Amino acid sequence: MFRGGDLSYAMEVTLEEAAAGKDAQIRIPGWEECEPCDGTGAKKGTSAKTCGTCQGSGTVQMRQGFFSVQQTCPHCRGSGKIISDPCPTCSGQGKLKKQKTLEVKIPAGIDDGMRIRSTGNGEPGTNGGPPGDLYIEIRLKKHEIFERDGDDLHCAVPISFSKAALGGEIDVPTLNGKAAIDIPEGTQTGKQFRLRGKGIKGVRASYPGDLYCHITVETPVKLTEHQRKLLKEFDESLQKGGAKHMPTGNGWTDKLKGFFGA
Ligand SMILES: [Zn+2]
Ligand SMILES: [Zn+2]
Repeated sequence: MFRGGDLSYAMEVTLEEAAAGKDAQIRIPGWEECEPCDGTGAKKGTSAKTCGTCQGSGTVQMRQGFFSVQQTCPHCRGSGKIISDPCPTCSGQGKLKKQKTLEVKIPAGIDDGMRIRSTGNGEPGTNGGPPGDLYIEIRLKKHEIFERDGDDLHCAVPISFSKAALGGEIDVPTLNGKAAIDIPEGTQTGKQFRLRGKGIKGVRASYPGDLYCHITVETPVKLTEHQRKLLKEFDESLQKGGAKHMPTGNGWTDKLKGFFGA
């Protein structure tokens, strides 16, 4: 008696599917009894004989020094039977490969690399042995907006440099819609906003993770002549204010002086 081998199956899921869970259908290899020989493997009208080497058990005891080791019978290869006239349909296997559809429940919160075991859906056992198991390995598809880190989500949020300077409310994406965040006046690139509970609730977690919005301040491009003029005027007015308009630039100028030994 031998247990059938385990099978593995890779399944790609989107971040949304992983967060909400889903009922999936997969096609896996299965076996069905060969009809012409009724699963015996012997050609119609003939029958299989019990293997004389192992008396039908499929295993033999081999002596190795002082030890006795159980091995697969080399004569019948574990089947316990000898088929002198094999069935032409299944070549003596007694079974035929056939695809079957399996319903799989993907639990909410599943993450990349996790495995789901489907008991008994692996390869069939031989000589009455139990079947193996099927393992479904989850591969998380890359998301356009969010990056997952455990139960937390991260996303980049570009804002205009005037919005960054003036502050104001902006909409940020979440897995189930939108959320508003208040950008304070003078926000810099690299600033993070944490939205509690807007991440993913892991398979065994009690609370969902958080969503981190990473702000990048965008330099405006493709300026018109008029906009260039306005920006130059604006820059001149900034210059008059000196370093007070540059939150890190001031300290940086001092560091440079030290670096050059001025
Ligand atoms: Zn045998
Ligand atoms: Zn057959």
